[in-house]
Amino acid sequence: MAERACRACGRPYEYPERKSAATRYHCASCAAVEPNARKALDLLRIEIRRLHRRLDAIEKGSAARDE
Ligand SMILES: [Zn+2]
Repeated sequence: MAERACRACGRPYEYPERKSAATRYHCASCAAVEPNARKALDLLRIEIRRLHRRLDAIEKGSAARDE
């Protein structure tokens, strides 16, 4: 059993877990979401990750300039 990060909500979850609806990519609650809506969540998650990386780069960049 390994801990995974849900592709839709980003929450960590255990997989595989007995009697859990969780899938390889989604936690139990997101696995219950209608597929088209879940696809939208996946895309939002990807976009949020991209923005986080961008924000990190910007913060690092300004920190480097301050030195
Ligand atoms: Zn989830």
